[in-house]
Amino acid sequence: MTIRLASPLVRFSTFGLLAVVLPAAILAVLGYVSLRQWETSAELLFREQARDLASMTTEKVEMLLSRTEDEILSRIEALLRRPDFAPATLAEVAATAPLIGRLYLVDRGGRVFFPAALAGEEAGVISKLLVEISQAFWERGGRRHVVVGDQVILAAVLKTGRGPLLVALSRNPEVFRREILEKTLRAVEGPTIIAVLDDQDRAVYARAPLEGAERIATAPFGAALPSWRVALYHPHGMSPRAAIRRQATVFTIAFGLLLVVIVAGLVATYRLVRRETEMARLKADFVANVSHDLKTPLSLIRMFGETLEMGRVTDEAALHEYYRVITRESERLSRLIDNVLDFSRIEGGARTYDIAPTAVEPLIRETLEAFGYVLAKEGFKVEVTVPPDLPKVPMDAGAVGQVLANLVDNAIKFSAERKWLGVEAEIQAGHLTLTVADKGIGIPLAELEKIFQKFYRVGRSETQGRRGSGVGLALVRHVAEAHGGRVTVESRPGEGSRFTLWLPLCRES
Ligand code: ADP
Repeated sequence: MTIRLASPLVRFSTFGLLAVVLPAAILAVLGYVSLRQWETSAELLFREQARDLASMTTEKVEMLLSRTEDEILSRIEALLRRPDFAPATLAEVAATAPLIGRLYLVDRGGRVFFPAALAGEEAGVISKLLVEISQAFWERGGRRHVVVGDQVILAAVLKTGRGPLLVALSRNPEVFRREILEKTLRAVEGPTIIAVLDDQDRAVYARAPLEGAERIATAPFGAALPSWRVALYHPHGMSPRAAIRRQATVFTIAFGLLLVVIVAGLVATYRLVRRETEMARLKADFVANVSHDLKTPLSLIRMFGETLEMGRVTDEAALHEYYRVITRESERLSRLIDNVLDFSRIEGGARTYDIAPTAVEPLIRETLEAFGYVLAKEGFKVEVTVPPDLPKVPMDAGAVGQVLANLVDNAIKFSAERKWLGVEAEIQAGHLTLTVADKGIGIPLAELEKIFQKFYRVGRSETQGRRGSGVGLALVRHVAEAHGGRVTVESRPGEGSRFTLWLPLCRES
């Protein structure tokens, strides 16, 4: 029976390619495309959010500023309404509202009521301011921010019993920074840096150092802070692009790992399938070999038995030869059946060992006697080396006898022209070693480990013509290990093989 090895493996490889590699490739492309899209949309979204945050911040600053300015103006208005109003009382307002840099009270004719005296450049400021105030403004009243030189002045025309009066307020930049900007901006959360830039693009206020930071959005202030802007920055290395690049790296690594796991899984499954297919082939061969091995000795026994029964053979020597053949073939049959039965016991975990101190020399002698006829017939030169003072060694005599028989049987089977069998017993490193050597066909180096696997037989062509089931050495190794020992092999193709069974002298429990 033959099982085609290639087809399931080829099928498996095709399946692996279609079921795993193809989806993985599609996933990789999709992953890459969606990552690019995500990068673009995340950047857009981020910039939009940053712009919203910036304009929200300007509104907040402006709100606080106009609230503070409103409060100051209402206080001044309340003073002006008093019948006993004296311009000097404005000094108190100027002193208690720190945001005020300068405070002026002027009438339509340009008369300055407050302060009592003007410093040099102040007169110029007031006249420039008066140029900015239109007739309509004087009539209507109200308030607006006016830029005079490098300062922003809040100008308010208030109606009083004495006609419209112009209140002008300049800002104390330091107090503005501390009380308005800092108070508003401190509360804004987030990793981005918020800064306020003046009309010269200088950072008047920044929540963190701006070195290396990337500006992502700005929003202008209204008339209260003309040409001033709120700007948002990313700290160095924290831009959304960098974050997305990090995510892309994580994604790529995770995807790579996933691919590695998938490929490892495929390789493992491939190996499993290969091993299973190989095992199926070996099992099929095993059945064929055992059936053949059972049939050959049986037909020999039958043939010789029938010849004897007919009583035609009278020659004493021929008779003897016939009896021997029958004995030898039935021994071979029992060995084969013992091997198969023991093997199935081992597989089922039911093999037990009866270990007792055993003399080594008789065991070797009896085993070789069983092969005596074959050895002599095939012209084997047999060398046995057993030291006379060998102690008794704990072992299951039956099992070790079977091991020796298997090794001797193999040595005979796998010998070609040079028919030589060596059996040695020795004490080495706390072990009894039993060595069976031949000068036969030998075993290639790559096969040395495999021959102990169940059903395994080297290079089918060379062993094909020789009897065997492929379980003999599996049994040898099992027996060795059950005794706490091991089996080793040295072999060279064309030169011969040396199998050594190592049995410990003391039993480890
Ligand atoms: P088999 O029933 O085939 O002998 P074994 O398990 O006893 O099964 O041996 C497995 C294989 O190891 C054999 O088929 C043979 O290829 C190889 N082998 C075992 N002993 C020898 C030896 N003394 N010389 C060469 N090859 C051997």
